[in-house]
Amino acid sequence: MDELIEKGIELIREARKILVFSGAGLSTESGIPDFRSPGGIWEKYDPSDFYFQKIISDEKAREKYWVMSSEFFNQMKDAVPNPAHLAIKELEGMGKLLAIVTQNIDRLHHKAGNSPDKIIELHGTAFSVSCLSCKKKYEREEIEERLKSGIKAPYCDDCSGILKPDTISFGQAMPAQEMEEAIRHSRECDLCIVLGSSLVVYPAASIPIYAVENGARLMIVNRDNTPMDSNAHLVIHDSVSKVLGMIMAPFFLETRH
Ligand SMILES: [Zn+2]
Repeated sequence: MDELIEKGIELIREARKILVFSGAGLSTESGIPDFRSPGGIWEKYDPSDFYFQKIISDEKAREKYWVMSSEFFNQMKDAVPNPAHLAIKELEGMGKLLAIVTQNIDRLHHKAGNSPDKIIELHGTAFSVSCLSCKKKYEREEIEERLKSGIKAPYCDDCSGILKPDTISFGQAMPAQEMEEAIRHSRECDLCIVLGSSLVVYPAASIPIYAVENGARLMIVNRDNTPMDSNAHLVIHDSVSKVLGMIMAPFFLETRH
């Protein structure tokens, strides 16, 4: 393990433009359940009930969607960043962070103190809600209050359009601008660090592939194997917060001096 940590320290020391790619494994260490894990939301609900087309075309499906979405939001809204999030914040402080591309919708990179313009949320955010017709934005908490008061599927104040959290649902297109930015950064970085992602959800998972194709080094920290392990300069199968905490420890010390 020591040797792997040393290698991680060296990769970070030599990098100038780091792209962090984070997935659900980073959030689970802040106590947020993974949708796809045993005991996760998809054991309780059927994902096929929540396809975008179904949500927008059927009021009953929408009501069911809000029950599921609300349950999940309430499990994540008070979560706090773990040592891995703080390590990524430190990378920004060191001037080495190009961007964070995240599959997570929990705002934990924001809460850790990274600049919003460094964070690309590929799957959107659970903390805001938009009208699908006029695009008016609402705070999630405001909509949650409406649900608590008995409204089952909320509608827009201005145009009565359908409201939906700003997360990317099954069957919904990836946000074009975010995807474009993520690809651009993947071609600019000299080190790509994958944290807590099994790299199986596309097109998001193609980001580290572009980075490697463009000559960047690749570090993967994830509990399970990923299809990119054989392309990586360093792979550690362990807890993300533990590993990143150890790799970043000398840098934290340097900043304090
Ligand atoms: Zn509207």
